[in-house]
Amino acid sequence: MPDHTVAVFDTKPYDREYLTHAQAADQLIWRFHEFRLTAETAATAAGASTVCLFVNDQADRPTLEILASHGVRLIALRCAGFNNVDLPAAKSLGLSVVRVPAYSPHAVAEHSVALLLTLNRKIHRAWNRVRELNFSLTGLVGFDIHGKTVGIIGTGKIGRLTAQIYRGFGANVLASDQSPDHSWATTHQITYTSTDHLLASSDIISLHVPLLPDTRFLLNSDSMNRLKKGAFIVNTSRGKLIETTALIAALKSGRIGGVALDVYEEEEGVFFEDLSGQFLLDDELSLLLNFPNVLITSHQAFLTHEALSEIARVTATNISHLANHQPFLDGTSLT
Ligand code: NAD
Repeated sequence: MPDHTVAVFDTKPYDREYLTHAQAADQLIWRFHEFRLTAETAATAAGASTVCLFVNDQADRPTLEILASHGVRLIALRCAGFNNVDLPAAKSLGLSVVRVPAYSPHAVAEHSVALLLTLNRKIHRAWNRVRELNFSLTGLVGFDIHGKTVGIIGTGKIGRLTAQIYRGFGANVLASDQSPDHSWATTHQITYTSTDHLLASSDIISLHVPLLPDTRFLLNSDSMNRLKKGAFIVNTSRGKLIETTALIAALKSGRIGGVALDVYEEEEGVFFEDLSGQFLLDDELSLLLNFPNVLITSHQAFLTHEALSEIARVTATNISHLANHQPFLDGTSLT
C-alpha cells in the first residue's frame, strides 16, 4: 500500500519510539533510516509516498527531483525550521511540504535559559570539580541575572517565552522583531528597540529568529564589534545566525564574555552523532570546545517528552491525512 509507506531519514531511537506510538501511526508503514537524506540517498525512498525529515536532511532541488521521480508526494518535516527545504522547487514538482510549527516552544525557551544559567554560574565546571573532590570555588564567579539587560532577537513563540522567563528573574528585557507584538510587550514590561540598539545595550543576547537570507550571519565581525563588552550570547535557533570565525575572534579579544550554543554553523554530520573515540575534523568546533566560557549542546533544545509527543502526533496525523485524502492540519502546510 504505497500511500501508507513513510521513509524516515536521520532516525534516532527516540524518533522511532515516539512516531510508532503516535495515535495516527496505526495505519502507516514506517521505513526507518539512520542515514540522512541527500541526493545520494534519495532513491531509497522509492515506494514511499512520504519522506519524514529532520533539520539536517537536505531537501534541495536535485534531491526533491529524485524523490518526485520515485513517487514521493509529501515531505513531512518533524521540526519547525524549514531552511533545509527548497520550497519553490517542491512546489514546482508538486510535492506537498508540512512541518510542525509549534511542538513545544517551552522546551526550547527553557533550554536556552538553562544554557545561560549553566554557563554563567559554571555549573558544568562545578559538577566536574566536585566529582573529583575538588571543592574549591576559585574561578566559578558568575553574575546575577536580576537587574541585567537581556536582548531577545525574534519575539515569535520561543522568543516571547524566553523573554518572559528572564522577566521572572527581574531582568530588563529589550526585544527586536520585524513584526513587533506591542500588546504582549506592554503586558510583560518588555521594550522593543532596533536590533542595533539591542546589541549595543544588552548583557545577554538570546537569538530566536529563523534562518533566512537576511538573518544569516546576523552576528558577524561587524555586529559583534558593537556588542557591550563582556556580553553573553545564547543561540538555540540556527547555527548560521552566527559567523563562527568572527565569534572565535570576539572570544579571543574578550569582547564576548561567554557563548552558549545549541546549534552550530557547521553542525551537519556532527551534531546528533556519537563521535566518541574519533577526532573532530572541524578545527573551529574543536577550538570553541576549548574555551572555558563556551558551552555547547548538540541541538537538544527540543528534546522533551512533550515536544516529541507533539511532533509525532502532528507528523503522523498529516501523513495519514495524505493517505486518506484529507486536508493537512491547520498551519502546518508550507506549499
Ligand atoms: P516563530 O516563527 O514563532 O518566530 C520567529 C520570529 O522571528 C517571528 O516573530 C518573526 O517576525 C521574527 N523574524 C523573522 N525574520 C526576522 C528578521 N529578519 N528580523 C527580525 N525578526 C525576524 O518561530 P519560533 O517557533 O519562535 O522558533 C524560532 C526558531 O527557533 C526557529 O526558526 C528554529 O530555527 C529554532 N528552533 C530551534 C530548536 C532547537 O531544538 N534548537 C527547536 C525549535 C525551533
